[in-house]
Amino acid sequence: MNNCNHDKHSKKEIVKEVLKCKFKFKTMVCNECGHYLWDKEVEQKFNLWLEKLYKNKREKFQVQIPLSENLRKCLNKLRRNYPSVTDTDLVRAIIITYLDHLSTNKKLMKMINENITEEIINSFAEPPFSSMKVQFRPKYTIKYLELANMIGSTQAKVMQDAVKKLMAFFVATDNELKDFWNTEIKKYIDMLVA
Ligand SMILES: [Zn+2]
Repeated sequence: MNNCNHDKHSKKEIVKEVLKCKFKFKTMVCNECGHYLWDKEVEQKFNLWLEKLYKNKREKFQVQIPLSENLRKCLNKLRRNYPSVTDTDLVRAIIITYLDHLSTNKKLMKMINENITEEIINSFAEPPFSSMKVQFRPKYTIKYLELANMIGSTQAKVMQDAVKKLMAFFVATDNELKDFWNTEIKKYIDMLVA
């Protein structure tokens, strides 16, 4: 199938399922292998369709992200730097920064991985958890859905990991946050496992 030259093709309707909704479009489809053409025109139609979906079914663009109490405590502390920003806005910014800017950059990821410790990451995986509902623009939703599918995960999990990792980096590199983590989180974990 990979060697197909798509020589014989005809215009057909394709139904693509996105966010459990159907995007229908007509394009050139290979008679042999079913490969279809996704060109600028289809892309434009798709973006219009997405914007309409975003207006009418907003809940499709909201993700329930489970965050541990420990992580939320550090998040609250981090918010001192962003007094006018809501928790949700801050978490969205962290996710987009991590997934779009950091995770694709080997040099930056190396720096992050060298600073964070298992101990901090693990502290953010301790129950209890509660979900935070975060909304994303369609372009991010589509991108993160594809990313999650690619690695056989879910959007919520991919986002949860992003928040855990960047938060761990903040704790490891920000002295005030590190002190806070030591007295408010590490102390209790040490007590529980002693
Ligand atoms: Zn083909």
